[in-house]
Amino acid sequence: MNEPVLVLNANFEPLNVCDTRRAIGLILTGKAEMVANGRGLIHTARQNFPSPSVIRLESMVRRPRPRVKLTKREIFRRDNYTCQYCGRQATHLTIDHVEPRHRGGGHRWDNLVAACQQCNRQKGGRTALEANMHLHRHPAEPAATASYLFGRHLADNADWAEYIDGW
Ligand SMILES: [Zn+2]
Repeated sequence: MNEPVLVLNANFEPLNVCDTRRAIGLILTGKAEMVANGRGLIHTARQNFPSPSVIRLESMVRRPRPRVKLTKREIFRRDNYTCQYCGRQATHLTIDHVEPRHRGGGHRWDNLVAACQQCNRQKGGRTALEANMHLHRHPAEPAATASYLFGRHLADNADWAEYIDGW
């Protein structure tokens, strides 16, 4: 009952992920319909329910355009787990402030990059320019496309792909 279920808006735009229990609650109260039954049956004492992997809300939910949360994990993911200075896929990555904090560099998407420990040490409290170190690409806020937001679930939920593509 705790498996992830992809929730689509009435217009099929992917909205979020809930668990099986909540998804079945939404279906039974008429708030959602099952779109994909990727998980066989749920057996209860009285009856069997098809277990949904994708549901769609019956009425449209309005919400602001989603944004990717600024977290360490998301920065590593944006930077493909690669040090943005030397290009190595290091196992122990750190977060580097391109413009150091004590120099006024903000905690923002465009000032934070993944860096290996070695490069982070080498750069120290200097700016990239002062340290003569070059970023592989200019850091920016990733677009919150459905494939970016939900892509990490795809390995375990291959049947979500067709509902995520293009959003
Ligand atoms: Zn490095």
